[in-house]
Amino acid sequence: MSLSVTTRRTWCALAGAALALSSLCVGPLAAQPRPARAGTPLKVFISVDMEGLAGVVTNGDVGGTAGDYQYFRKIAAQEANAAIEGAIRAGATEVLVRDSHGSKQNILPGDLDPRARLLRGASTGPKNMMEGIDSSFAAVVFIGYHAKAGTPNAILAHTSNGNVVDFSINGVSLPEGGYNALVAGLYGVPVVFVAGDRAVVDQLRGLLGTVDGVAVKEEIGTAINGLSPQAAQDAIRTGVERAVRARARYRPYALTPPYAMVLAVRQGGKSFEGAVAASPGTYTFTSPDLLRVLAAFNALK
Ligand SMILES: [Zn+2]
Repeated sequence: MSLSVTTRRTWCALAGAALALSSLCVGPLAAQPRPARAGTPLKVFISVDMEGLAGVVTNGDVGGTAGDYQYFRKIAAQEANAAIEGAIRAGATEVLVRDSHGSKQNILPGDLDPRARLLRGASTGPKNMMEGIDSSFAAVVFIGYHAKAGTPNAILAHTSNGNVVDFSINGVSLPEGGYNALVAGLYGVPVVFVAGDRAVVDQLRGLLGTVDGVAVKEEIGTAINGLSPQAAQDAIRTGVERAVRARARYRPYALTPPYAMVLAVRQGGKSFEGAVAASPGTYTFTSPDLLRVLAAFNALK
């Protein structure tokens, strides 16, 4: 998603951080190859954000005209293509890429591997970054993801937009990758792989349990020490192939309904039927329907 300029954080200095990029690939050992049986469909869903792409360090890299957005939207397509290739090597028969950043019109359609379909543009539905997911998919992959609002030592950390301070369901504070994993879990689909900064990989592993992934960069103050785009794409290709082959090891993410949302925002004043403004800047809403809770989140954030 997008992060407004006014909410850009001043990153804590992290003096003397030593990086071991060779250890950035996390996740289980590769499973034995299990080729898809002839005629058996294997559908993989890939959600592509931008803040966690290799090389991205400021808001100017992911939008507007002042920075390197035109360059990084190409990188978004290339990281998506690496994930598509990995999925197909693992036996995927169909791949759907959801452009998930800001306007959802970042990847130029002609830049995407033609073996995949592209879900492009904003939608009015509550699935948002997961628009298009359903129970026909076998695995979900996150590319270019970032940590939630308020995460220390993270690149462009935010939750949905700059107004959100925290979003929790049933007491679990959720990054975008967390509630998107819940949407996939609603359809019984596990998240198998995440690419982004070190903070989001750690955050999603803490939340989802076992998930494969690659940290394409680490923070040093307001700077990043990261993989080259080529090295990141190589790691994504290899990692997605490994994770999709091993998909049976990963569990769909779920919380027990009813879903009790608490949303803290900087600027309140919005309304949604059934939601309560519990205090200035804090809304609560509870429903047995996760998508209804997400609709409330989208209306109130
Ligand atoms: Zn984004």
